[in-house]
Amino acid sequence: MRPIGLFGGTFDPIHCGHLRTAFELWQELELAEVRFLPTGSPPHRDHLYASAPLRVRMVEAAIADQPGFVVDDREVRRTGVSYSVDTLAELRREYPQRSLCLLLGMDAFLGLPSWHRWRELLGLAHIVVAHRPGWSAPTRGPLGELMVDHGTGATRDLHTRPAGCLHVRPVTQLEISSTELRALIVAGRDPRYLVPDAVRQIILETRCYAAEQGRQP
Ligand code: ATP
Repeated sequence: MRPIGLFGGTFDPIHCGHLRTAFELWQELELAEVRFLPTGSPPHRDHLYASAPLRVRMVEAAIADQPGFVVDDREVRRTGVSYSVDTLAELRREYPQRSLCLLLGMDAFLGLPSWHRWRELLGLAHIVVAHRPGWSAPTRGPLGELMVDHGTGATRDLHTRPAGCLHVRPVTQLEISSTELRALIVAGRDPRYLVPDAVRQIILETRCYAAEQGRQP
């Protein structure tokens, strides 16, 4: 059975950088699906800007037409702080034999050592790191060691094993970030073509970011 890709994020809002990355990884790694997991209360962020249900709604709207893309809102439904390791452990219990691939941008990967029980992640899933503009793969420190111990260039490994491999994959570089998008919207500019039209509509209708004007990002 083909692997399940797990793409977590605050998605505040989801944008074309996320979507193109997920699409290329879905195609090139022959994933059965890409499951978008919007975070509940992420441990690394002080505050979010759009409510969790609205972030989920934007993800749903963004992926509605794409076969193989699904939303999983379990972290939003969970109360309290949500950790990726808990989500992965839960998914591993649901899919004991299945290959699971945690999809990360390079910036997220570089922050991995600050994640709760991060060394357990590779016991539960593979990690696929998509190159993001301006970031290079670490060669030293704990992540450099992880690359040496678990790195593989073969996508086949992601299909034949359920977990434990680290795969770095170049994707088309789209220099879009949610932080910059929110700033652009607060400045009264139009996010057209940076987010799908359906997401743009939700942002315009709800004014979910314009209301944050004056707050520090
Ligand atoms: P923020 O600017 O608020 O940090 P973000 O744009 O990085 O937001 P997140 O929801 O935090 O979005 O990111 C979710 C995942 O998507 C992370 O793994 C991140 O590395 C990845 N990602 C974010 N933007 C891009 C992009 N432009 N291209 C590829 N991957 C991206």
